[in-house]
Amino acid sequence: MSVHTVLNPATGAAIRDVPAASIAETDAAVARAVAAQRGWAALAPVDRADALRRFAAVVEAHAEELAQLEVLEAGHPVGSARWEAAHVAQVLQYYAGAPERLIGKQIPVAGGLDVTYLEPYGVVGIIVPWNFPMTIAAWGFAPALAAGNAVVLKPAELTPLTAMRLGDLALEAGLPEGLFEVVTGAGPVVGERFVSHPDVRKVVFTGSTRVGTEVAAGCARELKPVTLELGGKSANIVFADADLERAAAGVPGSVFDNAGQDCCARSRLLVERSVYDRFLELLEPAVAAWRVGDPNDEATEMGPLISAAQRERVSAYVDGADVAFRGSAPTGDGFWFPPTVVLAGREDRIAKEEVFGPVVAVLPFDDEADAIALANDTVYGLAGSIWTENLARGIRVSRGVRSGVLSVNSHSSVRYTTPFGGMKGSGLGRELGPDAAEHFTETKNVFYAT
Ligand code: NAD
Repeated sequence: MSVHTVLNPATGAAIRDVPAASIAETDAAVARAVAAQRGWAALAPVDRADALRRFAAVVEAHAEELAQLEVLEAGHPVGSARWEAAHVAQVLQYYAGAPERLIGKQIPVAGGLDVTYLEPYGVVGIIVPWNFPMTIAAWGFAPALAAGNAVVLKPAELTPLTAMRLGDLALEAGLPEGLFEVVTGAGPVVGERFVSHPDVRKVVFTGSTRVGTEVAAGCARELKPVTLELGGKSANIVFADADLERAAAGVPGSVFDNAGQDCCARSRLLVERSVYDRFLELLEPAVAAWRVGDPNDEATEMGPLISAAQRERVSAYVDGADVAFRGSAPTGDGFWFPPTVVLAGREDRIAKEEVFGPVVAVLPFDDEADAIALANDTVYGLAGSIWTENLARGIRVSRGVRSGVLSVNSHSSVRYTTPFGGMKGSGLGRELGPDAAEHFTETKNVFYAT
């Protein structure tokens, strides 16, 4: 069997080897999932709900262990990793409420009874990236299982350890064997097989827009539905009438969180021209104070990039750019990169493309219409923030920006109780929120003649 070696990005040292499944091994996992799904879908909704609550409780009991694995393989600061592990349990708990609330309709018709049933697809394939390995996996598997599906989950090659552990914990919680199969391996082998396998009836893909486009084309060939959560180039729009101190204090967290390897990173900072210089003055000390270093230290706010390749990619964007100021980062082993603030022109690559590193491009704008046009001048449309003390302006601008998730006077993007997903090149479909379990069902309409 071939293997992938998982590295600790904070040191560059090898952690362990993990199996890289073949197509035949992937097919065997899908077959086990098919077998498990029948009994799972046939359970009384209350029993599926109870099983998911037990899974949530077991995850909660192992939250510290999961957090430590995330620190080790993804380099997340331990505080963030603890939040992520708790979030997985919360998402499971939330969707444990879904089996008893997936409600079909009875439609008035002549000559009989017409009923819609919400039926599970069968097996759902979930393909996740390395940046938030366990939370993104949970956004797919929790509602998919709640709706009566089995799941085959493919973690990213760089960060498979939390997903593998979640697979063990599902069994420990009493979920049937085969219901939640974690298949580690290469994207072009395991991921592509999820797309082409006739028994995988729906795919959820989170990752780059490039691979997501291929996955969507493959799903189209197989006529299977796909949810795509892709890249972003989200804007932080700061108007002159904003609480500038508050907005500036939040900027480092909005873009340097997870070393900028966050699809929702506010990697473009658009500032109204009249307060542009003042805002940069406020931002500089906030960036200097951003604590970069050992992920195991509870005070750390930012760890390393995920890999040497990612560091090269980020460096290539910054080389030759007009750097305004930078924070600090450790030198030596590990894939470190300092928080970096770049003054950009509207046509610069760094102002339009996803860097996926701790780099923010700052651009001035002239008025509200210009801010909206500039925010929309990208192929992406995932997230963004609007800073203004004028409520009417906040409403107008939030309606004008083509992004799936926006916040006014806040940097927040994700709450498991609200829908999440992108417009334009950032994706297709929505995860999380009250409707997500229904997205893992197909509607069947039956007419009973009387
Ligand atoms: P990636 O597209 O390279 O890989 C994502 C996953 O797809 C991995 O598991 C990979 O093994 C798999 N894969 C690769 N080739 C495949 C193929 N041909 N068929 C099927 N699967 C394949 O992305 P990445 O580098 O792991 O993650 C970074 C990207 O993810 C960024 O663009 C980021 O914005 C995006 N992202 C989006 C969201 C969101 O919710 N919108 C969240 C996190 C990350």
